[in-house]
Amino acid sequence: MNESTHTLNTIEEMTRCGHERVCFHVDEETGLRAIIAVHSTKLGNALGGVRRWHYANEHEAIYDVLRLSEGMTWKAACAGLAMGGAKSVIMLPEKGLAGTREVARAMGRFIDTFSGTYIGAEDVGVSPQFTDWMLEQTDHVMGGTGEGQGGDPSPHTAMGVIYGMQASLRHVGRDQFAGLTVAIQGLGSVGTYLAEFLNERGAELIVADHHDDKVKHVADTCNARVVSCDEILGVKCDILAPCALGAILDEKSIANLKTDIICGAANNVLKDPEADARRLSDKGVLYAPDFVVNAGGLIHLAGLYLGYTLDQLQAMIARIEETTMTVFEMTGAHETTGHAALALAKQRIEEGTAQEQVNAH
Ligand code: NAD
Repeated sequence: MNESTHTLNTIEEMTRCGHERVCFHVDEETGLRAIIAVHSTKLGNALGGVRRWHYANEHEAIYDVLRLSEGMTWKAACAGLAMGGAKSVIMLPEKGLAGTREVARAMGRFIDTFSGTYIGAEDVGVSPQFTDWMLEQTDHVMGGTGEGQGGDPSPHTAMGVIYGMQASLRHVGRDQFAGLTVAIQGLGSVGTYLAEFLNERGAELIVADHHDDKVKHVADTCNARVVSCDEILGVKCDILAPCALGAILDEKSIANLKTDIICGAANNVLKDPEADARRLSDKGVLYAPDFVVNAGGLIHLAGLYLGYTLDQLQAMIARIEETTMTVFEMTGAHETTGHAALALAKQRIEEGTAQEQVNAH
């Protein structure tokens, strides 16, 4: 996923980032080439998406799966889940190759060898149908078309972002969406639900997407103003919600921002997490860390896997508001909101591990 070329010494990198286990798999019959990385099981088994992507080389794939699996550990810990962090990638021989049932089933068998330590789910390039096919070979996959496995996580992710926005508004001394302007970049699965939820709450919307049909749907149903994809990051608004791709905030786009708050679903929105977080803070823009506010879908799928009821899951997703507030409160002692969120995740892992040790005696 990253354009630069990475040459990695995998064991050294695993040691540096604290990964527990990385497994490579080649299925001769179907041509599947996949990697599963388990970063941490300190808090429990680990759920993370299966990404299908054409990587320039093996190092790119390893870099991606190591980085993404580590991110899942912090996301699950901040979400208060008894879950660790993991992720997997399927290396496509060519761009945009459609997923077949045979390959999906082979991936399901690979996942099954982890006996539940790793639980797969949808990610970039994996459709609900592909997920259903993986499920033919293992019980340790969530999502897909069946509600029993959690179905589409997007509405839950969008609702979590709403809670993150509520915390952000409270932090800047405001308390309701009515009369506010929210700009949404990307009207895919999450962005469209987010637009609906914000419209119900009385926010004025400005939206952009490359797909005219998606834009028209949201313009018609939510009375949203449409701008071009080039304009959306620079529109004047109270909240900007990135719901498209990562790495969209850099020195140039941050200089053009006209928003008070950044709070959206897209992962890794800061191109340079350290420098760009500082730039936002220097500009007086409140950044709600992506992995804290976009955890609603993970909470839904992981929570179902862990046996929580739907009511309990809703309550856990609502807790994203308090968690985001905690992150903002902790930021005084840390350089940026991102540093504070990471500190909170590490604190929860330490507390969870300590609790387990007490229980074991
Ligand atoms: P999606 O693929 O359904 O939608 C993404 C949309 O963004 C597409 O409609 C695409 O056309 C649009 N887009 C791409 N580049 C754009 C640009 N420059 N300007 C405007 N629009 C652009 O993805 P999704 O499931 O809605 O997820 C959105 C983001 O949230 C992704 O980064 C994803 O990784 C992250 N996320 C999603 C979930 C989930 O539950 N689906 C959970 C956590 C994080």
